Amino acid sequence: MKPRKIPLRKCVACQQMMPKKSLIRVVRSPEGEVSIDLTGKKSGRGAYLCGQVACFKLAHKNRALDRALKAPVGPEVYEQLARDFLAVEEEFISSRDRDEEDGDE
Ligand SMILES: [Zn+2]
Repeated sequence: MKPRKIPLRKCVACQQMMPKKSLIRVVRSPEGEVSIDLTGKKSGRGAYLCGQVACFKLAHKNRALDRALKAPVGPEVYEQLARDFLAVEEEFISSRDRDEEDGDE
């Protein structure tokens, strides 16, 4: 059996390479709207963050998201993302745990 390749992506805040599914995708839609994409299926330009509030804060501080999305991310967008980030954190962590359990089968 061939070992399955795990797609790696880089967290824009801490620059660590991580498996794609342990990162949160932030996407800028063609209309310019920035939002969190838990499904990984939204179209637009994406940036990845570890599912950690610390990294989100770092990305805010050094404007890593602006650079990764190649668009200025306004303070109100960061505020919205911060709320969404906290809201999805639990769901994100539990889905990640679920995926790991599935992988054992
Ligand atoms: Zn990170």
